[in-house]
Amino acid sequence: MKPGGVGPRGQSVSSPIVRVLVLGPGGREHALARALRRDPAVTDLHCGPGNPGTAAVATNHQIDPTDPAAVVELAGRLGVDLVVVGPEAVLVAGVGDALRAAGIACFGPDAEAARIEGSKAFAKDVMRAAGVPTADAQVCDSMVDVEAALDAYGPPYVVKDDGLAAGKGVVVTSDRAAALAHAAACDRVVVEAYLDGPEVSLFALCDGVSAVPLLPAQDFKRALDGDEGPNTGGMGAYTPLPWAPAGLVDEVMATVVRPTLDELRSRGTPYVGVLYAGLALTSAGVRVVEFNARFGDPETQVVLDRLATPLGGLLQACALGVLDPSAALEWTPGAAVTVVVAAEDYPAAPVKGDVIAGVAEADAVAGAYVLHAGTALDGEGLLVANGGRVLNVVGTGADVAEARAAAYAALAKLKMRGGHYRTDIAAQADGAALA
Ligand code: AMP
Repeated sequence: MKPGGVGPRGQSVSSPIVRVLVLGPGGREHALARALRRDPAVTDLHCGPGNPGTAAVATNHQIDPTDPAAVVELAGRLGVDLVVVGPEAVLVAGVGDALRAAGIACFGPDAEAARIEGSKAFAKDVMRAAGVPTADAQVCDSMVDVEAALDAYGPPYVVKDDGLAAGKGVVVTSDRAAALAHAAACDRVVVEAYLDGPEVSLFALCDGVSAVPLLPAQDFKRALDGDEGPNTGGMGAYTPLPWAPAGLVDEVMATVVRPTLDELRSRGTPYVGVLYAGLALTSAGVRVVEFNARFGDPETQVVLDRLATPLGGLLQACALGVLDPSAALEWTPGAAVTVVVAAEDYPAAPVKGDVIAGVAEADAVAGAYVLHAGTALDGEGLLVANGGRVLNVVGTGADVAEARAAAYAALAKLKMRGGHYRTDIAAQADGAALA
């Protein structure tokens, strides 16, 4: 961070952060709250609404985080110095705009800039203008266009709904009939060329002008072992990536993140928040699969576990437009692996209300801890499933194998009827590449 003074938007930046409000209900927000708790400058931490896990490190407030007026009222009443937005739906609802209009620092882009995630057609347009490498794509207005695009690119077919679908509006299939059926169900269809190669998630913290990268991570989107089953919000993640090519982060900052930031700024929508680049390391080079406008869930759980630089100061510097792009972040050596425990029938129709047992025992496993994602306390004070992704078990260790062993040892302590998780998260991390 640069020394104190006045930020480009007129805010005083000389005083260190004190009060922070984290918006969102899930495991990502629990990870954010834990990391903010480690920052000695954060003396007062609030979550809206948070969950039973965040209640242990912050004060929860029952609020709809997608209601801009309610968020501004709460942030004003609490006198917070910084609001940190978790979910994309909060950004799309204009909460960042409303907070900034009220003079409250917010880490998270305005609704217009968040379209980089919300509209795949917008993201493609920004990438084209900025010269960012990505898959060829066509926005289709009719099924005739869809058929032509499928034929042009050939299998495997990639069909996306041009709307916010939390990573679930995409079908990748070699079955043409399935590709057509998904296209018919979409509001507005984008058909893309298939990108081969392993995927990497890279988060960059942005202040509108500059950016600093976090550690690259990999997540596992399919519901079942062996990358089978439907796409989900994410079933696990790990960092760092022992197989990632040297220089990958610098290359992505130079060819993806900085040109995208410059393009958004030139359009009058400077980007403040996390720019999440979903990348494919294809045989033809790095390509952007997608952008997201917020921290990825569950990659955030492992990336923030490793971050040694105080998080609150970093996010505040972004929100105030005073990030020092030359400041190298510090990382705890070793690795982190997270495995998502999902409710019965996730992702199709997750069952709520199943009782969760063994969290304290899992937390007691050396090198492991449990983050709450979709949990609630029932009328009798029992911890129950309250969403598709229920818990995130994080394992840490000297390397990915050790971190993975810690995570799975902790998972063995958990009990939840219908609960399920993948058994192969980070299993091949020491190999050359993961598809
Ligand atoms: P998205 O919602 O765009 O993030 O896509 C979700 C997931 O679908 C990605 O993480 C990839 O696994 C897969 N995917 C999306 N686009 C492509 C593509 N062009 N080629 C191969 N896989 C893709």
